Amino acid sequence: MSEIPKKKGLGELFAPVAGFGVTFSSMFKPTVTEQYPFEKVPTKPRFHGRHQLNRYADGLEKCIGCELCAWVCPADAIYVEGSDNADLPDGGHISPGERYGSVYQINYLRCIFCGLCIEACPTRALTMGNDFELAGQTREGLIWEKDDLLAPLREGMLAAPHPMVEGTTDTDYYMGTVTGPSTDQVDWVREQRPHDPTVDSAAQAADGQNSASTGATDTPATGGTR
Ligand code: SF4
Ligand code: SF4
Repeated sequence: MSEIPKKKGLGELFAPVAGFGVTFSSMFKPTVTEQYPFEKVPTKPRFHGRHQLNRYADGLEKCIGCELCAWVCPADAIYVEGSDNADLPDGGHISPGERYGSVYQINYLRCIFCGLCIEACPTRALTMGNDFELAGQTREGLIWEKDDLLAPLREGMLAAPHPMVEGTTDTDYYMGTVTGPSTDQVDWVREQRPHDPTVDSAAQAADGQNSASTGATDTPATGGTR
């Protein structure tokens, strides 16, 4: 084994304090300590934060309960149960097509925020936002349920369940041709749930779509592409 050569002259003189070089040079650089939580530095745009289950423009959910996100998760953090829309009464739907996610849980004690689940999702139902403040007081509280993850209804959306826009398929929804609730959907919800708080704003949105269309009063709320 070869010996480490000994320093000579000035090198030998400063050798005992040479290790402080980094310390001294850092003393004159600006402080970079983030004063969290008093000052919150915005995350990078593509930061992987908390999940969200998204909706279509008429309020139906994008999740079809396929469980692909759960299967791909390396931390086994997602639990999904799917159900048939056909089992809902009077032709109502939670999501377009055959199936919807009836149970959806993410365990944030397990999640490592890798983003594989959102890559696997075939309908772009599952996305991740920039929210990183996910601490909790209990283990149970860090298992987020579907209601915690579901995107809120925007103004003009109609709360599910309700039928799909008449004359459309789940492919039309996926292709972005449904741009809001239709009059028939609003009427259906009015009949089933007269006190639903989303009916009035959805009715206004449906009227707006109708007047923007060719003039037919019962034109489905479709048009435009993504
Ligand atoms: S981000 Fe990764 S670890 Fe977290 S739920 Fe999705 S796949 Fe699982
Ligand atoms: S979030 Fe996407 S991948 Fe997961 S069950 Fe729903 S549709 Fe399937």
